[in-house]
Amino acid sequence: MPDSNSNKLTNLELIACDRCKNPFMIQKGEKLRKQEIDEEIVCENCIKLEERKKLLASSVIESQNEIKTSIKNYEDKIESAETQEIKNAFYEKIKTQSEILTKSVELLKKIEETNDEKYIEEYKNLFEKLKKESS
Ligand SMILES: [Zn+2]
Repeated sequence: MPDSNSNKLTNLELIACDRCKNPFMIQKGEKLRKQEIDEEIVCENCIKLEERKKLLASSVIESQNEIKTSIKNYEDKIESAETQEIKNAFYEKIKTQSEILTKSVELLKKIEETNDEKYIEEYKNLFEKLKKESS
């Protein structure tokens, strides 16, 4: 009976990840195939990181849309506000929401640029904080 496990092992080779430079196992031939189509050779960890980044970025974008909607609502309320005092209160709310929006844009940029798992956790916490501020 052929030993399928050792067979699998001999079909693997150790190479360095294009992003984190950590060594990992890849099917023999896979590296050549990827190089031919000029594809990045990325380890499992980096793929997972990429997925987490995408997930987090899409929640940030979702929140940004909510903030934009609420700014629009405040603008409508200003138009129909009866006193200057009420108007000012809505202006203040718009100001706060805009500041949060700016922060979230910066956060989005950081998420896209990072290649480090530990920052994703940090950005996630920052985002939770922002969400609390905006509600
Ligand atoms: Zn990697």
